[in-house]
Amino acid sequence: MDQEKKHSKCNIHTKFNNNLLLFEENNIHTKICLLCAKNYTKNIQKIIEYDEFLYANDDYIFSSFPPLDDEDIYNRIQNLQIKKDSSIEKIFIEKINNYFISLKREINQKIDIIHNQVKQNIIQSGVYNSNQGDTFLDIYNQVCSKFDIQKLYGEYSQDSEQPLKEIIQDKYQNIKGNTEKLYKAISEYETIINQINMKNPKEIKQKILDLIDQIDFFDKSFIEQVEFEKSKSYESSQSLQIQRLQNRQIQINQSINNNGVSYANFILDPDQKYVFRVKIQTNSQPSSFLLIGIIQESNKDNKKLHEGICYNERGDHMTIKRIVKGNKLFEGKKTNINKEIEMRIHLAKKLIKVANYPKYESIAELENNELILDNVQYRLAVELYYTDHKIIITHISTVDEFDQNM
Ligand SMILES: [Zn+2]
Repeated sequence: MDQEKKHSKCNIHTKFNNNLLLFEENNIHTKICLLCAKNYTKNIQKIIEYDEFLYANDDYIFSSFPPLDDEDIYNRIQNLQIKKDSSIEKIFIEKINNYFISLKREINQKIDIIHNQVKQNIIQSGVYNSNQGDTFLDIYNQVCSKFDIQKLYGEYSQDSEQPLKEIIQDKYQNIKGNTEKLYKAISEYETIINQINMKNPKEIKQKILDLIDQIDFFDKSFIEQVEFEKSKSYESSQSLQIQRLQNRQIQINQSINNNGVSYANFILDPDQKYVFRVKIQTNSQPSSFLLIGIIQESNKDNKKLHEGICYNERGDHMTIKRIVKGNKLFEGKKTNINKEIEMRIHLAKKLIKVANYPKYESIAELENNELILDNVQYRLAVELYYTDHKIIITHISTVDEFDQNM
């Protein structure tokens, strides 16, 4: 457009230039003045300055044009613009660098604080500031008459012979008493020394190192990282068959008719909110003894799941049975069951719920929340009895908040 057109005056508001564009649906004005524009629309966002459009270079993003369903997109394009000149590699490396720098700094700060606290606690208690080592050394020196013997040798003469002999003989006469005296002094010292217990700190150190090994910026999906292990000694767990299906789901079935327990290869984080989905498939056997639940870490290799916290498709031997919505969830003695259920777990809130998936028409929860104990580690576990019955873990995820479906 030429300068003349650009600066043309409004016919109505003669003091105003027609220097604006209004691009609203059914309200398109390709050249109007400010007052006209304000009359035509309440949506100031839709008014664009003529110059803004005319001089927009190739990386300029308008704040409301072209019209879009999501206004946020203009901002997001503007923000991404800043990065567009970097290679993707550079962006990734920068993000990774920032992560590790802050990880190191925050871990160091944390360690320094705890280190100092522990040190200060020991010093302030004042209990340990005496030098206990001297106590048993004093007793040792006394028991062996080290200085008496040294003195006699230092001033050695004919007269020294007799007292030296007496001292040594005395040692032989008092073997039992001297042994006890030293044994007691050493034991006391060792007891004090062993009050500092390195077992827990060493375990924590190992856990932190293991966790660091798991840092991965291009994470596999949760279910790909999960494996199921067979209970080491509970009944016929070793005859369970566990396989990873093509679609990454995990199928568990029993190869003989007997109880088998299998548990996930990770301990549930009490603060995490987990969502598990499980397919339950049976054959013509009218006893659908298929369980899913949580098992205590200390019980995982020697206890059954059906006496703990679990849902049982057969409807008995289970604690997740208080109906929250709909009817009973389990199919009981039906045959050829083929269904999917969703289990939600948030241990810190003592929450464990089960619903049919994907409809969520029937929901059951733990009858007594107090069955979930504080400071006890749990794993997701399953138990099966009959040949050809299947439990298929189809989905595992953690969420920031559970949705409202159940
Ligand atoms: Zn006007």
